[in-house]
Amino acid sequence: MFTDPELDRFLDEALPPEQMAAIESALRDDANLQARLAVVVGRRDAGVHSLGAVWRGHRLSCPTREQLGSHLLGVLDDGAEDYVKFHLETIACRLCQASVTDLRAQQAAADRDAVSERRKRYFHSSAGYLPPA
Ligand SMILES: [Zn+2]
Repeated sequence: MFTDPELDRFLDEALPPEQMAAIESALRDDANLQARLAVVVGRRDAGVHSLGAVWRGHRLSCPTREQLGSHLLGVLDDGAEDYVKFHLETIACRLCQASVTDLRAQQAAADRDAVSERRKRYFHSSAGYLPPA
């Protein structure tokens, strides 16, 4: 378990690397610790240490593009889903928010293609010839 002073030093990146890594990885699936970190950040001068700024310094903590895609599709397991939501909404990581916007646009384009493909098939079948599946 990590103490608040440790979390504080984590935010300052003032812990030994192995401890930084331990806290980072614990944050991935410990909703409790995520909430405590948010509180610690809230106590600090928001202008100097926004949680988002801290996170941008820790790219390792960003979910992968695959995870963000799974999040959009709603197929992440609960722990991962909580983490991605925390990352996108509480941390408000601009990098990942941009990825999500991008992925969403890709999915929408793929959906549009699927619809026009169905229309084409319908047209062909109603015209009397169904293209091979
Ligand atoms: Zn991120």
